[in-house]
Amino acid sequence: MSTAAESPAILFQKSLASGRIHSGYVISGPGDAPQEGATHFARAIVCTAEADEARPCESCQSCRTSGSQTQPVEIDGKDGPYFRFIGSHPDLYWLEKGSESSAISIKQIRHLQTALHRSSNSGGRRVVVIANAKWLNTASQNALLRLIEEPPPLTSILLATDTPFNLLTTIRSRCIRVTLPGESMRDLRGLKLSEDARNLVSRLDTIHTLGMPGLLDWAEEYHSKQGKRKVAVEELDELLSIGCDWLYERIRQATEQGQKSVRDELDAYKAVMKCRRELVRRNTNTQMTAEECLFAIRSAIHS
Ligand SMILES: [Zn+2]
Repeated sequence: MSTAAESPAILFQKSLASGRIHSGYVISGPGDAPQEGATHFARAIVCTAEADEARPCESCQSCRTSGSQTQPVEIDGKDGPYFRFIGSHPDLYWLEKGSESSAISIKQIRHLQTALHRSSNSGGRRVVVIANAKWLNTASQNALLRLIEEPPPLTSILLATDTPFNLLTTIRSRCIRVTLPGESMRDLRGLKLSEDARNLVSRLDTIHTLGMPGLLDWAEEYHSKQGKRKVAVEELDELLSIGCDWLYERIRQATEQGQKSVRDELDAYKAVMKCRRELVRRNTNTQMTAEECLFAIRSAIHS
């Protein structure tokens, strides 16, 4: 299945009007847009308004339940709860990385499978939103793949992510892909950047002054101490993400100025992307991955 050529809104509208809802969607876009888009689509799927009305209608029983502002249950990948519901709608599942975990665990997917093999509460459709699907590791993705390939009746899975390339190609090829509009690269010189991100940008701006010891010291900051892997993974994920955007900015500027070859920067970009894909999927060593990323960037930057 290919990327939707029509706008996401039209694609969702058509699916809802025809009742042809696929078992898997990858909804991607910048920032929180994928989560918000997936939530909207999930609520619309179970809305009981007439087909010609806009959905979610916000007035039917289903919309009132899915839109209810209850305090969300905190998800814990190890001991549960493994997922929660959207609002208090029992047929709209929400699954994300546990607050203390470094990935969406296979245990969470197994518990979801068990829940989905029971019949739905309303007898109608059920939808699962996997929020921030970039945190799915390979084992979780393979378990999820089986759910998408052989879904329980009337069940759809929406994977929301800002980095769709982190998903296995087997997952992506079996899902309808919806790309939400927006600037996918962060404006590294803009005001919206967090302080941590701004610090990383200014360190990258001076990476050409660092020798081997400096790079090793920097990578050591991502050493995953006992029981602190989650922190190291999240911080490293930010470095890899900023690193990609930083290289992209450099490549764009170089090509706009009609500069020489950008092959070195492109090679570094590919290397950092590979680190991003493998960080969660293969449970890589955080310090070594940081080294790989920083060395790749450093070797591309000659001045
Ligand atoms: Zn409704």
